[in-house]
Amino acid sequence: MGVLGLALLFGAIYGIANGVGLPLMIKVVFPKVFSGESNLSNLSLIGYASLIPALFCVRGIFGFFNTYLVNHVGMGVLEAIRIDFFKKLQILPLSFFNKSTSGDLLSRAMTDTLQVQQTLTGVTNDLIKQPITLLGALGFLGWLSWQNNSVMFLLLGLGIIPLCVFPVRLIGKNLLKRAVQTQKQLGVTSERVSENINAAKEICAFGLEERETKEFIKTVRNLFQVQMKVVKYTYLLTPFIEIITAVGVALSFYYAYKTQMAWVDFLSILAALNMCYDPIKKIGGVHNQIQRGIGAIERIDDILKMPVEISDPEKPETCNSIKGNVNFSQVSFSYGETPTLSEINVQIPAGTVCALVGPSGAGKSTFANLIPRFYDVTDGTLTVDDIDVRNLRIEDLRSRIAVVSQDPFLFNTTILENLQMGDLSSTREQIEKASQQAFAHEFIEQLPKGYDTMVGERGVLLSGGQKQRLAIARAFLRNAPILILDEATSSLDSESEEKIQTALRQLMQNKTVFIIAHRFSTIRDANTILVFDKGKIIATGNHSSLYGECALYKSLYDRQN
Ligand code: ATP
Repeated sequence: MGVLGLALLFGAIYGIANGVGLPLMIKVVFPKVFSGESNLSNLSLIGYASLIPALFCVRGIFGFFNTYLVNHVGMGVLEAIRIDFFKKLQILPLSFFNKSTSGDLLSRAMTDTLQVQQTLTGVTNDLIKQPITLLGALGFLGWLSWQNNSVMFLLLGLGIIPLCVFPVRLIGKNLLKRAVQTQKQLGVTSERVSENINAAKEICAFGLEERETKEFIKTVRNLFQVQMKVVKYTYLLTPFIEIITAVGVALSFYYAYKTQMAWVDFLSILAALNMCYDPIKKIGGVHNQIQRGIGAIERIDDILKMPVEISDPEKPETCNSIKGNVNFSQVSFSYGETPTLSEINVQIPAGTVCALVGPSGAGKSTFANLIPRFYDVTDGTLTVDDIDVRNLRIEDLRSRIAVVSQDPFLFNTTILENLQMGDLSSTREQIEKASQQAFAHEFIEQLPKGYDTMVGERGVLLSGGQKQRLAIARAFLRNAPILILDEATSSLDSESEEKIQTALRQLMQNKTVFIIAHRFSTIRDANTILVFDKGKIIATGNHSSLYGECALYKSLYDRQN
């Protein structure tokens, strides 16, 4: 029997002890003690009296283990959902992250999953205990009705149930709507906080503190309002059910007087009715909880069901080694409706350097992003060594490409671990060698803990030039045949600049290199220069040919010089 089975068994025992135990004791044991004729020995009296704590012991122990095990299952489910959610985030395409906000995703991963877990444990806690308590108490009322030749008691128990269904359904429906709104608003609130923290520097620089606080107050006020609606609907149910059930108790009170019922009988009926009504109230609460859980699970499901547009092919082509011939044939691409790149036709031979130039927004980064399949071409074919990139396993393709971006991302861990991300199997020796090639070893050694120095979130504890050198060291470690380089535009001090340029020249040797070039020193050395304008390649050639033939190239070049 699994953990859940055991939990349910314990819940059932709890339910029986709860629903039948006390009314039965009042009905069977109390008359023996309080009949007036009884002459109980001390031992019997202690025996009868001990039945009460014994009953609560059974109830308490089985109730505890039921709750404990149910929580164990609930936490396990929460863990599984969070892992699935996180795994899904790893395979979703970049286009998905362009459309989503980090705060919303964070809220789905943390608060929605927590809500699902709370629903699951809350519901499972009561799902067995309460119906069995109800059934036990109804059974007891049925037995009493049979003994007294009257169906009144059973009717009192049963008649209340349909009356309670109405408010349960109505309130549940409203609650679902508000629960979804609350979860959404929680996402908006997380987004505001995360954006504010990430923009700490801009906020100081532009004096946006007051504006940010005002916006945040607005956001949390909205959250407060929807949360209070959830509170309203959650707690409105109990008084409704209590009033309806109180009418049931009043009826039994009236009926007991009219039929001259013995007070012991009346007490046991009251206990049984209470054992009937309490589960109805709790089952109503369970319904509410389910509505809140549905709201949260829908939001998680949105992500889990999100199509993975960029995935491995069913029958991937094998590639043992890649030389690095890259070919764009009639390639077009659009992020949305309007094309960003159209009819791109270029062939870049392995081991050559290709510089991408053009005005801002012309499509250079988009072109480079197609090679590692950060996005898939909308039309045409993009091949590496004559294999369509869509026919390669993503891992096979991306492990053959190193990307060095303008503003490299560093994780909040040690320099060593950050460098190792270039090649997870690399040894410390290899990492140190790559750092030497990237002119990073010297500054790393001067840090208080050397390679074990923590770099802070996004590498805040390092300078721009240091971060770039670490990114270059990562690329050395990766040693991939294709290199995509987004040249940094920010000016560094001349020593740093010189080191970076020397490191890059070494890194580029014997590789197919695509440089989004901002410096004309790099452009002049390139084997091929692609001039981009409004999503098209308007000219291809080397520096001297383009300078004479392409007006846009000439003007870009002259402007920088
Ligand atoms: P820059 O030199 O300024 O970096 P670029 O030549 O690299 O510019 P791209 O970044 O490729 O230009 O952008 C080309 C066009 O695509 C621009 O109009 C840009 O607004 C748009 N674009 C870029 N990224 C996205 C995206 N993720 N979603 C929608 N549109 C985008």
